[in-house]
Amino acid sequence: MPASDLTRRDLLTSVAAAGVAGAAAVAAQPARRQVAIGSVNALAAVKLTVERLSAGEPPVDAAVAGVGLAEADPDEVGVGYGGLPNEDGVVQLDAAVMDGVSMRAGAVAALERIKHPARVALQVMRRTTRILLVGDGALRFARAHGFVEENLLTERARKIWLYWKENAAPDDDWLPAAAEAEDPDLRWFVEKYGSSYFRPQGTIHVSALAADGGVGCCTTTSGLFFKLPGRVGDSPLIGCGLYCDAEVGSAGATGHGESCIISNGAATVVEFMRQGKSPEAACLATLERVVRSTRAAFLRDTEGRPRYNLNLYAVSAKGEVGGASTWSGAQHAVCRSGEPARLLPSAYLFKRPAAD
Ligand code: ASP
Repeated sequence: MPASDLTRRDLLTSVAAAGVAGAAAVAAQPARRQVAIGSVNALAAVKLTVERLSAGEPPVDAAVAGVGLAEADPDEVGVGYGGLPNEDGVVQLDAAVMDGVSMRAGAVAALERIKHPARVALQVMRRTTRILLVGDGALRFARAHGFVEENLLTERARKIWLYWKENAAPDDDWLPAAAEAEDPDLRWFVEKYGSSYFRPQGTIHVSALAADGGVGCCTTTSGLFFKLPGRVGDSPLIGCGLYCDAEVGSAGATGHGESCIISNGAATVVEFMRQGKSPEAACLATLERVVRSTRAAFLRDTEGRPRYNLNLYAVSAKGEVGGASTWSGAQHAVCRSGEPARLLPSAYLFKRPAAD
């Protein structure tokens, strides 16, 4: 049988066939509930994901539905429609999905003019024998599947980008307007993201666990704000911005993409869980590895600590959840069937100085 035809039922059947004792152990376990975990901006997404899981949707589809709320939200400036553009003012989106039962995945990178890149990634997984499509090829594939092209650059995102461009270098040809800082859209941005670090990032991740033990996940982003045109971060890279395996659980990442790529963040979390660590301990162990690999001077502060934040999220096949970040103060979103969605504090490696 081709691996792609392997279903959760086949997996359970083969486990049961392995012996009566194994089957008895499975039967003795309490009924599992649907669980979703995600980034801090995924509160509504994890709720919708669990609703979709409860309605019987596969975990990967449920996660894609959940993150679709952020992709369509113009106020979510790190994702989909209204996402901040690259250095040239062009919105380029990255997204990936993975199904931990069939171990199939789909992804798109530097995709322009399509509001829901996660849905395109799902089609790449289901309707091709490949995993990652980029740029114009990804757009042509989306068109072929009937996705509608639209301008994703909102007026607010354009103004924020222009402000960044005009203030990025003192000696270039761009001059900021005197009254620009008073613009309500710019004030909105500075209030939300702060002015001391005018280059934050935004991404949404959701990992989903179904009652039958199936897992799936999705990460979608407009990437690092004002990135180099064509720059692709961790979000659409399987093993970096997301990874899952129904034998173990699911994990995802948001934050500094390059550091996550170097240590294969999400796959490393899953491997630590495979070795027996809890989701939170697996996220922390991965972050320790990421920090050990942060050797470039431009990534380290005067005390040698990372100058970036990386956030990791994980759910085990047993339904335990956990999240951790490089720096203190981060949260993650969790929802279990029958309970409201909640934001929980993430574990961390370094305590942020009070003034930060
Ligand atoms: N990880 C994303 C990227 O590097 C950005 C983010 O999550 O904030 O593109």
